[in-house]
Amino acid sequence: MEYQNAMPSPERFAKGPIALFECLQQIPCNPCADACPRGAITVKEINDCPSLDSELCNGCGVCMSHCPGLSIFVVDYTYGADTALVKIPYEFSPLPSTNELVDALNRQGQCIGTGQIIRVQQSSNKTNIIWLSVIQELAIDVRNIRLRKEKSHE
Ligand code: SF4
Ligand code: SF4
Repeated sequence: MEYQNAMPSPERFAKGPIALFECLQQIPCNPCADACPRGAITVKEINDCPSLDSELCNGCGVCMSHCPGLSIFVVDYTYGADTALVKIPYEFSPLPSTNELVDALNRQGQCIGTGQIIRVQQSSNKTNIIWLSVIQELAIDVRNIRLRKEKSHE
């Protein structure tokens, strides 16, 4: 997959949530590595893309809100029998509501299906984390959401 530094194995996906890094810009940056409480992220040289120890990562998502590039996602294929949970960094306003149905967007901003908001995890910085449930087939492609209902900006 061109967007990924390294795709976890199917066996690792089957164990539970894991972070996916879509950080390819090779800019001097490493707050994700400092933020990970499990030491799962390594940035060897400051311009390198991070590498992940997939056995250490438990998909907690702590690194996500520290990434200025909005480049980290968490995918959990064990969330449901047919559904996956995808955690997506989100800096738009207004925020969606729990249980809301939204358009699931791919990396090009195209709608590829429907997602349901499971949780909105607000961060102390502006990078909130959206927990989105989608059918498993969409989990590797959904990377943003679009609200269906008009909401007032708070
Ligand atoms: S999801 Fe959690 S454990 Fe995995 S790399 Fe990010 S901070 Fe570390
Ligand atoms: S914080 Fe984000 S942009 Fe910076 S190295 Fe980590 S994944 Fe890449």
